[in-house]
Amino acid sequence: MLIQRASLLDGTVADIRVSEQIVAVGPQLATSPGEQVYDARGGTVIPGLHDHHVHLRSAAAALTSTQVGPADVHSRQDLARVLAAADIGSDGWLRAIGYHEAVAGALDREILDELSPPVPVRVQHRSGVLWTLNSAGLARVGLADHPDGRLRSADHTWSDTLTRNEIGLAEVSRRLSAYGVTGVTDATPDLEVGDVVKLMEAHRHGELDQRVHCLAPGKRILHDSDLDLAALTAWIAERHADGAPVAVHCVTAAQLVVTLAALRSAGGHPQDRIEHAAVVPDGSLADIAESGATVVTQPNFVTERGEQYLHDVPAAEHHELWRVASLLSAEVPVALSTDMPFGDGDPWKAMRAAVTRTTGGATVLGADECVPARQALTMFLGSADAPVVPRRIAAGQPGDLCILRARPDEVLNELDSGMVTATVIAGEVVYDR
Ligand SMILES: [Zn+2]
Repeated sequence: MLIQRASLLDGTVADIRVSEQIVAVGPQLATSPGEQVYDARGGTVIPGLHDHHVHLRSAAAALTSTQVGPADVHSRQDLARVLAAADIGSDGWLRAIGYHEAVAGALDREILDELSPPVPVRVQHRSGVLWTLNSAGLARVGLADHPDGRLRSADHTWSDTLTRNEIGLAEVSRRLSAYGVTGVTDATPDLEVGDVVKLMEAHRHGELDQRVHCLAPGKRILHDSDLDLAALTAWIAERHADGAPVAVHCVTAAQLVVTLAALRSAGGHPQDRIEHAAVVPDGSLADIAESGATVVTQPNFVTERGEQYLHDVPAAEHHELWRVASLLSAEVPVALSTDMPFGDGDPWKAMRAAVTRTTGGATVLGADECVPARQALTMFLGSADAPVVPRRIAAGQPGDLCILRARPDEVLNELDSGMVTATVIAGEVVYDR
């Protein structure tokens, strides 16, 4: 297809011929017979966004789950009311997500039995790593005698007994296309080979338009209660011996410090990643840079969870949360992402959060970590294989584009997904407002 009158980020106006790859970029390219023509009318055209850390299956399941996070539920009685009113899935489960202790304290099977209807119920913590099941749910997954009903997401002994919700992936894809997202990296740690193949097939069959890359089996979650430096080091060394990188999930300072120690012992792979880096103490900046790992972080949580942080985290540590600018200054490679569905899947909101770092209540959290709009945008333009190398509008680059209705200065000023008018993947229009 031929895109006419496109404003590029550097201000030049050009036509773009695109198929699987970008074929040509230049002023007033001649149309070919039968070619689809799209007039961008001076609107900005950028490479399609790549969200470097998402969870596609969870995002699909979230569409039919009940939200029980602090934004929606405010007390124990409130939680009981919301669970009583919730839809039961066709699989017989009541699936609730986004839970945090701020709602009604720590959950266990007994508390859930009191609060929930007498059907199998599972409630996911908003961190995504932990579920709490009620007694009916525990019986359903064959763990009737489980002591507290708290089960890890990555534990296959129970999650394999659940039937997957296969609906919803197309809807997730449609929403991503409307944001101008043309590729995603699925960071789910417990995906098995079959799951990865299914996602690839969903892309090939057109249910999922976005290009998809999966980190599994090179992704590992850490838990503060059983940090094991020797085991982590051995796993990293083993992956590297196979020529493969690792991605380690670090949401606490302790997890980061142990991961950096393990990377130091095992040595690095150029594509190693640290996911989240939600808390980076001052003393760890140089160590991350030395590790060579890319940090894939989510500044959107400053906006989405900032009020909670103001309440829970001492002021002296606010600058350690979801850092971006100081990582870049320390020459750490950084890519941005949303962690959809645990974070809002709109990458433009994440860019705005990286620029303003304002909480829901408009407090600025870690003002020194703000980055310019262009930088925030660029950190969504890498690819799965090279997250910090921005793709460009140039011949030979992938034919994945995001077309916006405004000029570049306005796009950068607003960073608003409402400006996306069309999305092109491999030369095909997958979204057209
Ligand atoms: Zn995640």
